[in-house]
Amino acid sequence: MSTWFISDLHLAPEETRITAGFLDFMLEPQCGDTLYILGDFFNYWIGDDYSDEYIEQIQQILKATTERGVNIFFMHGNRDFLIGNEFCQKSGMTLLKDPHIIELNGEKVILMHGDSLCTKDEAYMQFRKMARDPQWQTQFLAQSIGERIDFATKARAQSKSNTSMQDEAIMDVTPEEVSIQLLKHNAFIMIHGHTHRPAIHKWHESGQDFQRIVLGDWYTKGWYLKVEDQYQLVEFDLPNPE
Ligand code: MN
Repeated sequence: MSTWFISDLHLAPEETRITAGFLDFMLEPQCGDTLYILGDFFNYWIGDDYSDEYIEQIQQILKATTERGVNIFFMHGNRDFLIGNEFCQKSGMTLLKDPHIIELNGEKVILMHGDSLCTKDEAYMQFRKMARDPQWQTQFLAQSIGERIDFATKARAQSKSNTSMQDEAIMDVTPEEVSIQLLKHNAFIMIHGHTHRPAIHKWHESGQDFQRIVLGDWYTKGWYLKVEDQYQLVEFDLPNPE
């Protein structure tokens, strides 16, 4: 049995290569396997009450995969934090809180999207606090679909211009915050996405070995982490456009 991890696909109807790559990837996990989707699965999400042909296609492949015996767990990213129980139920996935602790090969592992680790990005941390507030979410979801799409489009444009202006270091995780989380949960391994810097970081501290595994985005290649007795971070080619 294998445990698979993906994140940061940023699925959207116009992303035909990423979508085709994802549909291919979903043939990989087999009955009994577990798949964790650690956020930013969709490029944006305006609420479970909005659906279209594209969302239904993704929902159906998730559902079909769970029906052939694959367990799928989903954690919010900073783009799709409004995915709710309704979409998860329709897709056969279980919604997880961030952080979530699992056990892999007898070791405790912290799963996170990773945005909450980037504490130096103060503007984003403020937005995160606001957007994760249930009251803000209720108000947002009460708006019309058009208003919500408008908000998401503006937020993405703003985040793009912020990213291009910001110092590289700000966009990566704050090492102190990583240590705080590991200590708090008494764990030595962490898996997250968000930073688009796929790598397996290993270090030694206070007589202990630590690992932080960062998943990759799917902008140019596809990425997954596959865990059997070893942690394998794998990059693969997305299908060529027709
Ligand atoms: Mn993210």
